Amino acid sequence: MKILVTGGAGFIGSHFVRSLLTSGEGTGSPPTLVTVVDALTYAGHRANLAAVAADSRLAFVRGDILDAGLIDGLLPGHDAVVHFAAESHVDRSIASGHAFVATNVLGLHTLLQAAVRHGLRTFVHVSTDEVYGSIPAGSWTEEHPLAPNSPYAASKASGDLLALSYHRTHGLDVRITRCSNNYGPHQFPEKVIPRFVTRLLDGHKVPLYGDGRHVRDWLHVDDHCRAVRLVLERGRPGEVYNVGGGTELTNEQLTQRLLDLCGAGWSRVDHVADRPGHDARYSVDWSKIRSELGYAPRRSFTDGLAETVAWYRANRSWWERPAPSDPYSSLSAPERNR
Ligand code: NAD
Repeated sequence: MKILVTGGAGFIGSHFVRSLLTSGEGTGSPPTLVTVVDALTYAGHRANLAAVAADSRLAFVRGDILDAGLIDGLLPGHDAVVHFAAESHVDRSIASGHAFVATNVLGLHTLLQAAVRHGLRTFVHVSTDEVYGSIPAGSWTEEHPLAPNSPYAASKASGDLLALSYHRTHGLDVRITRCSNNYGPHQFPEKVIPRFVTRLLDGHKVPLYGDGRHVRDWLHVDDHCRAVRLVLERGRPGEVYNVGGGTELTNEQLTQRLLDLCGAGWSRVDHVADRPGHDARYSVDWSKIRSELGYAPRRSFTDGLAETVAWYRANRSWWERPAPSDPYSSLSAPERNR
């Protein structure tokens, strides 16, 4: 299979590409070509693909998914698209939603149009549980109405609806995954786990939003990538699959674990004003992907989190590269290309 991976230099996309090319996990034959298209925004980094850079099956194209000419030239010859490229950070979407609508809606639309035009076999759109909004108790099934609260989540929900419309209207084999919060190595230190870990390792305080009672389900990036591969290889056209990690924690509980792993105490925590529109709890029901495709998370959160902290400890040069300004102190930094 020849696969075009968008956003393959980002956190999850690069894990997916590395696992496609190095692990025998899949049920189908190994891919014969993996083309990564990535704009290398502040969140994308070629070093994330260093482990597979020498693999002759990997092609890297620096480019924007909004560039219809580029996508038209790239897509023919591929059997599948796995679409990770996105603006992905909620705080940035609150500061300015424009890039989110551009990439997460119009960029996806560019890909969908090209997919129809060139008769692509399968299109996997990687989405998020945030499209469902917030749930005080219980879990969302895939049929739950979408009720996104942040501009990021709204742009992803728009993308989901657009992708499904291409299935219903044009017969494109679209499959959607909606996962919970990912963690693991190579995550840009703007998301809570790498942000807290890198700040703690540097002796700084960490900013905990509001009362710290917000609840998230944590999913190791290895488990997420395995789920996406299952959907790519054995999912059904037009279907949505929730992907959960099985570890629900309040942000306060998560902070306690990170403090313990970094040898720090609660004096290093700053309680800061809550994020506007902050969803209280996310929880996906992932029984569909379990019963249809045999998915279950394999990574224990305790081990996965300890390994993640150890990775940030050992890879300072990866996260000490110049970063856009910290959203904790300023949300106005422009994106930086590298
Ligand atoms: P990321 O921000 O680490 O990576 C995004 C990648 O997309 C980067 O490499 C960036 O350069 C690239 N990109 C951005 N705009 C682009 C454009 N216009 N054209 C081409 N490339 C572009 O994100 P991530 O955490 O790896 O998330 C990947 C996908 O998973 C996203 O669609 C996100 O919505 C979804 N998701 C992530 C999480 C999570 O916890 N990280 C949870 C649920 C869903």
